[in-house]
Amino acid sequence: MELYQKTAAELSAMLQAKEISAVELTQSLLARTDAVEDKVQGFVTVTREQALAQAAKVDEKRAAGQALSDLAGIPMAIKDNICTKGTLTTCASKMLYNFNPPYNATVVEKLAAHDVVVTGKANMDEFAMGSSCENSAMHPTHNPHDLSRVPGGSSGGSAAVVASGAVPISLGSDTGGSIRQPASFCGVVGLKPTYGAVSRYGLIAFASSLDQIGPFGRSVEDVAMLLDAITAHDPKHDSTSVQTPFEGTTRANLRADVKGMKIGLPKEYFGAGISDEVRTQVLSAADTYKSLGAEVFEISLPLVEYALPVYYILSSAEASSNLARFDGVKYGYRTPHAGDDLIALYTKSRSEGFGAEVQRRIMLGTYVLSSGYYDAYYKKARAAQRKIRQEFAAAFETCDVILTPVAPTTAYEIGSKTTNPLEMYAGDICTVSVNIAGLPGLVQPCGFDENHLPVGMQLIGPRFGEQTLLNAGLAFEQASGLKNIVAAL
Ligand code: GLN
Repeated sequence: MELYQKTAAELSAMLQAKEISAVELTQSLLARTDAVEDKVQGFVTVTREQALAQAAKVDEKRAAGQALSDLAGIPMAIKDNICTKGTLTTCASKMLYNFNPPYNATVVEKLAAHDVVVTGKANMDEFAMGSSCENSAMHPTHNPHDLSRVPGGSSGGSAAVVASGAVPISLGSDTGGSIRQPASFCGVVGLKPTYGAVSRYGLIAFASSLDQIGPFGRSVEDVAMLLDAITAHDPKHDSTSVQTPFEGTTRANLRADVKGMKIGLPKEYFGAGISDEVRTQVLSAADTYKSLGAEVFEISLPLVEYALPVYYILSSAEASSNLARFDGVKYGYRTPHAGDDLIALYTKSRSEGFGAEVQRRIMLGTYVLSSGYYDAYYKKARAAQRKIRQEFAAAFETCDVILTPVAPTTAYEIGSKTTNPLEMYAGDICTVSVNIAGLPGLVQPCGFDENHLPVGMQLIGPRFGEQTLLNAGLAFEQASGLKNIVAAL
């Protein structure tokens, strides 16, 4: 077995036993990256020299007998909307093509304290807006399981580089499904934590009340390990971050036991619009849970009907406000075509710097916030958000976790949905409610379709229910054997 086929937990054990050095491991995964990156194109930037230097430091520390984190020396990728000091952070946008952040995101600081080795910044949809990674201003990313298909989005690069074996783990961000849907399309595990569990400081904002950073891996254990490293209350930098009951402990408390666990299947998530293959695989996962001793029953979440309009109104409203700072003056792209006209400097910098999808969201957002429409759209959407939250809270009085599909279909062909934004938005139907309600969601592979493309399933938990989700995920992973799937490239 090659090193790129091993999970982070396995590699960690090898590093600790000194069977390999961090430099050897990093070299080996950089070689895998070189071998597959032409086809997958999962990275915006590969940070080769820096990674080797970080790895050499880890080896020195280990040789000196220092106590190290289990993640020390493990190579990983970071989504390109998470600020890394001195390393290009582009958000896959022309607007930030030259942005070298002067500071690290809190999660990056935390990972540095764990001595991880960052081998690169992962591609994404521009400003995290999209579901296919085709909105990247750099290049699209290809699904490692079928290069003619999308990896999902917006964290498509983060999912693809884990699925391709370039790295065992990575970080993404999820505003409406951007960790979970690419995890599903690429056959890897991804977790969107409870809102507030992970600091958003240094995450370039899309929709601040929905955005969360979260881990990708090829096993539930690896995702738990990475979650443990990044969860933290960050009162100094993010006032929406909170102290979680599971901080730093989910891996140690993993138990593959679902006996007596109450699992709800919301009937609205299995109806028309969901492909037969996806429905069949997720229902068969439900059967697996039954055979493991869980109590599985149907529930109803009728407000899912409103989830997409609520999500696209709220997220676009917040995006229009968050992206106002990109004006060609303070940083980022500045048009060379404005002469000495200030208004032209603003408008041309923004028209030339932002791609079509980002401009569409800004227009939609300013529209729903404008006087005369605010009450009809934005205020209504906030009211509907409260109802959706209440509906989930009521559901969690009867069940411990909720099991659903992640997306209506498996990965689709590159280019097949780019001309119809509404069709692309419709693909987010199963994921957006989790963000609207601030809940955690775990996605992992539950089978393959007839084209051998991965099918994912989603487990949704109550606020701070991460441990329960991971335990349920581990139980399924062990029963199904669907773990550590590396694409044959
Ligand atoms: N696909 C959704 C969107 O385009 C979600 C994106 C995300 O979670 N960042 O907005």
